Amino acid sequence: MAVGEFEKLYESRTPECQALFEEASKVLPGGVGGSGKFMQPYPIYVEKAYGGYVWDVDGNQYIDMLMGAGVHILGHNPQPVVDALADQLQKSIHLYIPALPEIRLAQKINQLMPHVEMVRFINSGSEATMMVLRAARAYRGRDKIARFEGNYHGQHDFALVSTLTTAGELEQPEPSMDSAGIPKAVAEKVLVLPYNDPVNAPRIIEENADELGAVIIEAFSAFGLGCIPADPEFLNAVREVTKKHGIPLIFDEVVTNFRLGLGGATEYFGVTPDLVAMGKILSGGVTSAAYGGKREIMQKVVTPTAGLWDLKEQIFQSGTFSGNPLSMTAGLAVLEELEKGEALPYLDGISDTLRGGWKDLADKTDLKMLVTGVKSIFQIHFGVDGIRNKRDLLRVDKGVTREFHMGLIANGILASAHPLFLSSAHTEQDVEKILDVSKDVLSKMGG
Ligand code: PMP
Repeated sequence: MAVGEFEKLYESRTPECQALFEEASKVLPGGVGGSGKFMQPYPIYVEKAYGGYVWDVDGNQYIDMLMGAGVHILGHNPQPVVDALADQLQKSIHLYIPALPEIRLAQKINQLMPHVEMVRFINSGSEATMMVLRAARAYRGRDKIARFEGNYHGQHDFALVSTLTTAGELEQPEPSMDSAGIPKAVAEKVLVLPYNDPVNAPRIIEENADELGAVIIEAFSAFGLGCIPADPEFLNAVREVTKKHGIPLIFDEVVTNFRLGLGGATEYFGVTPDLVAMGKILSGGVTSAAYGGKREIMQKVVTPTAGLWDLKEQIFQSGTFSGNPLSMTAGLAVLEELEKGEALPYLDGISDTLRGGWKDLADKTDLKMLVTGVKSIFQIHFGVDGIRNKRDLLRVDKGVTREFHMGLIANGILASAHPLFLSSAHTEQDVEKILDVSKDVLSKMGG
C-alpha cells in the first residue's frame, strides 16, 4: 500500500479536520502554530485529550505518541497537576513578583539534580539554551560556542546553525545555515563538532579552546539525530577536554530531564556538565523551562548585584512570564508524583515491551527498519542499518518512514517524525495495539 492509500484512509476518517485546516490556513501560516506541527495532507485538529489518548474534531480516538512533544510523562491532564493548578488558580495566575512555587520548584530540581546548584526559570527550551549559552560566554569571556552537528537546541539564531543541515567533512564539519533570516555573521561564532567521534571532537575543541565560551551537547539526541545516545567514550572525551581547558560544558536536557531518570542525562550517562538547559516535563505542561548549574557560574554572571546590574560582567535575563506561579506549580506537582517512585519504573517497563516488540518486527520484515531511542523515547526509521550522526540520519528513506507514520495515524496511533514517547498513563493494551497496528501497516507496506 503506498502512502497515498493510508492518506486516503486518513482523509475518509477526518472530514472535519480537513474543513478546519482550510479555515485555519487563512489566519495561521500552514494552519498550524509551528513548523513542526504541520503534516501532509493536513494536520489532526484535536478536540480533547486525556491520559494516553487524544480525540480529533471528527471524534476519532488516537493513542497519543507525541504526548505534547514529550512533556506529558504522566499522560494528559493528570489529576495531581489538575488539583494543584485548581488550588493555585485561587491564589494567583501571574504576578511578576517572586512567589513560593518558584522557590519550591528550584529546590526540587536541586534535590533531584544536585549539580544544578542554582536555577533560573524562563519560558521555553529555546530560551533556556539561548540564556545558558549567554551565561557561559559571559563567564568565560569568549564569544564563540561549540555545538555538535545535528543536535537540536531550539529555534534561536545560534541554535539553527548545523542542526538540520550539514557542510564540510564528516570529521571536520563546517557551519551550515538552517533557516532563512539568520544573519550569516552568526555562523562565524559557531564551531561545529562531529557527534559520536571520540577522536576528532576533542581534537577540534582542543585546537579552538582559547576562543570558546561554551560547548553544548545533547547527551541523548532526540529530534536532531533521530533518538540516538552519545557513546560513553565520546561523551567522556568531551567532558575531559572541556574540563582541562575550563570551558563550561552544557547538557541540553530539555527532552531528557526526568525522563531518563529523576537525575536526567547526568544520572543516565554518569557524566556531569557545568550547566544545563531544561524544559518540557519540568513545565508540567504549562509553558516553562529553566537553565542553571554551578553556583560559581550562576553567582558570577546571573545573580543581580547592588544597584541594578553590572552589565559588563553580568548577563541580562528577565521575562514577563518567567517563573510564573501556574507553571511552577504544575512542574512541582509532576516532579512530586514522579518522586513517589511508581510512574517511572512502570513507564520504563511498558517502553521495554514496545521497543522489544518493534525490534522483533524489524527483524522479521523485509523492509530495512531501524528502532532507535532509550527508555520511553522512540523513533522508527527505514532504509539505514544504523545512525550515529546527522549524516547517517539524512540517509534515512524519508518516503518509507513517512508511509509507516501515516499508516499508524490512519489506524489510530498518533506518530510523526518528531520523537515518539510513551507516558505512565499508557496501558499494556495500548502497547499491544501499537504493535498490532505496526505489524499490519508493515504488511500493507509490502514488508
Ligand atoms: N532542546 C532540545 C533538545 C529540544 O528537543 C527542544 C524542543 N524539542 C528544545 C531545545 C527547544 O525547546 P522549545 O521547543 O520548548 O523551545
